[in-house]
Amino acid sequence: MEFQTVCGLEVHTELSTKTKIFCNCTTEFGGEPNTHVCEICSGMPGTLPVVNKKVVEYAVRTGLALNCEITQYNKFDRKNYFYPDLPKAYQISQLYLPICRNGWVEINDSINGGKKKVRIHEIHMEEDAGKLVHDEWTDSTLVNYNRCGVPLLEIVSEPDIASADEAVEYVEKLRAILQFCGVSDCKMQEGSLRADVNVSVMPKGSDKFGTRTEMKNINSFRAIHNAVEAEARRQIELIEDGEKVVQQTRRWDDSKGTSYSMRSKEDAQDYKYFPEPDLPPIELSDEYVQHIKDTLPELPEAKKARYISEYSLTEYDADMICSTVQFASLFEKTVEITNNPKDSAHFIMGDIMKLLNDTQTLPENMSFRQESLGEVINLVNNNKISRDSAKKVLKAVFNDNVIPEDYVKENNMQMMSDTSAIKGVIEEIIAANPKAVDEYKQGKEKSFNFLIGQSMRALKGKAPAAEVTKLLKELLG
Ligand code: ADP
Ligand code: MG
Ligand code: ZN
Repeated sequence: MEFQTVCGLEVHTELSTKTKIFCNCTTEFGGEPNTHVCEICSGMPGTLPVVNKKVVEYAVRTGLALNCEITQYNKFDRKNYFYPDLPKAYQISQLYLPICRNGWVEINDSINGGKKKVRIHEIHMEEDAGKLVHDEWTDSTLVNYNRCGVPLLEIVSEPDIASADEAVEYVEKLRAILQFCGVSDCKMQEGSLRADVNVSVMPKGSDKFGTRTEMKNINSFRAIHNAVEAEARRQIELIEDGEKVVQQTRRWDDSKGTSYSMRSKEDAQDYKYFPEPDLPPIELSDEYVQHIKDTLPELPEAKKARYISEYSLTEYDADMICSTVQFASLFEKTVEITNNPKDSAHFIMGDIMKLLNDTQTLPENMSFRQESLGEVINLVNNNKISRDSAKKVLKAVFNDNVIPEDYVKENNMQMMSDTSAIKGVIEEIIAANPKAVDEYKQGKEKSFNFLIGQSMRALKGKAPAAEVTKLLKELLG
């Protein structure tokens, strides 16, 4: 029997507001344990939460960017569970009236070709929990509440995803949209974007979903891909062996490439949800929503279309550059400086991608001054440095954030602009290679190339090739 994979994702994204969702503590990542905390986010009795307006604004912005309806009257609910990473013993979340509903994201259809929409069931606001750290040395578990109360959006998809590739593309698209909206940095290795992956399988063509399992908190594209594939395979094997898939929560271990059962899946009723009594409902006016709609930044799809029509980028390049906010902003800065979109794209797709790859750096960790790329391109296009030198300069820019012009001077990389000096070097080459000169005069093209090569080497690549060719021709008569 042939099976098909069914997958739905619950993506959590940490919002990049300055302060937490219900108090004034910083949301900054890291810091000494338990220093970004106050009586509210550490769950002291008698304290009251106050909603951070920015969180609501970011949620609405995200919802509109993801084609959702905005629930203009929405509420918080209390999700009760006891676990030491959440000192209140409940999480403030939204169940009955989430702030956004019924959106979609478009991705490539990996089964039938063309495009398809992954529907978004809802987006709700909630608070993040703290972090438990197991200390092997003392065999104890420590808790860090710095992350407690960091605002989260949970974006819940419908089970419209049909393969590991689609799951990855869906999260990539989400990430780009969230980044371009400016609501999250989406750093997956810091946990600002993480996915709960629900997977089931059913016979091909069936319309009855199989039993699903859920793998929580997966935080890399590779792990999402591997988890969907491995879990679908595991379920198919169970069914083929005449066994049943049990609905459960599993932990994905990406280093081992397998998952194991954590617990049987909990239902909403297990959490004894009830309306949060400490917070009033949120009412959003038409004007408020309209204003956010009117001020949405340019989103990845629109940007991509514009790069193609306005700058004549290829679809492939435009797609790549719009895949993360870092490439897009570097590209735009570079175009501003060079006035040359083609070269700007070319250097990003070539040199920058290679540097990222060689150093295993993520785009969000590029830390050089953005102007530098455009400045290097200008140096090449104005014949101030060779294309080869540009590679060296860019490497230094990328690794050490050097200023291109200074670096070129310090390392004596400027092209020779003095024609008589270039001429002098070529004359020396001619004098030293009488045989090649003779052969050239008898019509041997190869010898000319040999002389060019020798001249360029003597000039250390610091004279424009066209100029060297022209001068050599003249000098040979
Ligand atoms: P719960 O209330 O138990 O969390 P939901 O209906 O909210 O369940 O679904 C949670 C996630 O699981 C959603 O992203 C949804 O798309 C996905 N999902 C639901 N049913 C299936 C299924 N049969 N196979 C794969 N994913 C599913
Ligand atoms: Mg759920
Ligand atoms: Zn606090």
